[in-house]
Amino acid sequence: MPVRKNISEVKNYINGRFERKNQNSMDVFSPIDGFKISTIPLSTREDLDAAVLAAKNAFPSWSRMTFKERVQIFFRYRNLLEQHMDELTKLVQLENGKLYGEAKAEVEKSMELCEFAVSMPQIVVNEIQEVSKGVECRTERKPLGVVASITPFNFPNMVPHWTLPNALVLGNTMVMKPSELVPLSTVRMAELLKEAGLPDGVFNIVNGGKDVVEAICDHPDIKAVSFVGSTKVAKIVYKRATSTLKRCVALGGAKNHLLVLPDANPKMTASNVVASMSGCAGQRCMAASVMVGIDKVQHIIDLMVEAAKEIVPGDNLGSVITAESKERIESYITEAENDGAIILLDGRNTSVNGKEGGYYVGPTIIDYVTIDMSVAREEIFGPVISIIRAKDLDEAIEIENGSNYGNAAAVFTQSGGLAKQVMERASAGMIGVNIGVPVPREPFSFGGWNESKFGVGDITGRSSIEFWTQNKKTTTKWNPEAQTNWMS
Ligand code: NAD
Repeated sequence: MPVRKNISEVKNYINGRFERKNQNSMDVFSPIDGFKISTIPLSTREDLDAAVLAAKNAFPSWSRMTFKERVQIFFRYRNLLEQHMDELTKLVQLENGKLYGEAKAEVEKSMELCEFAVSMPQIVVNEIQEVSKGVECRTERKPLGVVASITPFNFPNMVPHWTLPNALVLGNTMVMKPSELVPLSTVRMAELLKEAGLPDGVFNIVNGGKDVVEAICDHPDIKAVSFVGSTKVAKIVYKRATSTLKRCVALGGAKNHLLVLPDANPKMTASNVVASMSGCAGQRCMAASVMVGIDKVQHIIDLMVEAAKEIVPGDNLGSVITAESKERIESYITEAENDGAIILLDGRNTSVNGKEGGYYVGPTIIDYVTIDMSVAREEIFGPVISIIRAKDLDEAIEIENGSNYGNAAAVFTQSGGLAKQVMERASAGMIGVNIGVPVPREPFSFGGWNESKFGVGDITGRSSIEFWTQNKKTTTKWNPEAQTNWMS
């Protein structure tokens, strides 16, 4: 049971101070048991103006510091994350409902993201060349100015770290808008950044939902917007931010297909598929959502059902985020059943003793799903996997290619040749071979294809360097022939 760290009232963080004006607010609940844990302010345009102004004022001195000076702060911050690991883990658990181990892995990944950011002085090296006698061209990477980061509920600690360390180390200042469902982790991040020595105004937080996001997209002093969330909102944010001529990268939802061939290692495959669909209660944009079973894979499906039966809500399966999520997930299962699919394991109507107010859905396996069913096409975002049967690899790849999304795809096989076909032909940004959650580790970048991402480049790794900077090209001419010696 997580320890309650009571942040009873979340405040905006502007210019190094937490502040809250008299304004509309929204309650925050723990999905573990449905108890109210905090409230957030619904930030206004004026709050955003203040946060952007603080970031704008902090920009000149922050961007003029050397790269090496800026990274010293993130060395200290990374170590503070490690020192506060248990507390930060419990905070993620409290607001998001995932298991302790899952929440801890998230904070560990945040440390890895900081490690990449502090390595940037080693890899972001400016270029210089004598292009003709006495003439030099140089390219320098310069920060953009004030940038914004809008984050979802499913990784309260990790997703903010996809953007924050890289953008800041590269010399930008930031306004962050966390999900209104999980605002607490960001508060602690601000406190620890200050403790690490981050100057006031370099990092700011506003809270709220749609209205403040729209104000961010419209704000004339924000140069770039990064967004992570559902495809529906990613499209809105991408269109709105770019319509005011900002650069934008907007990551959306997912419908990840795992292609299982009959020669796959049965036990390993079954446990990987089940872990992928049920980890973090299926609320990962990299979670398995469809298993395409190719030819004779019944023995693997039987093992999957066995493995999934070992997953117990409230014990080794966390909660989903809200009562509405639980309802939405369950209605997908019911619809599939009504459409003729076979429910091999049914997670509906789950409740956990002592946490009756929490939002739990048990692991669910739906077989004989056809491509026209909503469980085959739409993002469910719960511990549910739909099995579609395919006669051969070509048909399976066609099914995967038919998805509007394209975050991840994976293949389970012992044949290198068949795996290679999936690696080449799957229409997704991140591919796994015998790996159910193929998240690239740093320094490899994270980002999907199709409607799982809008904008150029990925959100992390080397790709993000391009996003958070602009090139300054300087051509200089000195005249070596003149041999002027003005010391004499
Ligand atoms: P969401 O789209 O509901 O919310 C994301 C952010 O947008 C939040 O900060 C929220 O306040 C804001 N928002 C919500 N509605 C808005 C509106 N109408 N206009 C403007 N802003 C709005 O997403 P969520 O439910 O918090 O997160 C889950 C989704 O995020 C899933 O679809 C998941 O696949 C996706 N996700 C994708 C990735 C990825 O890498 N592609 C990573 C994590 C999560």
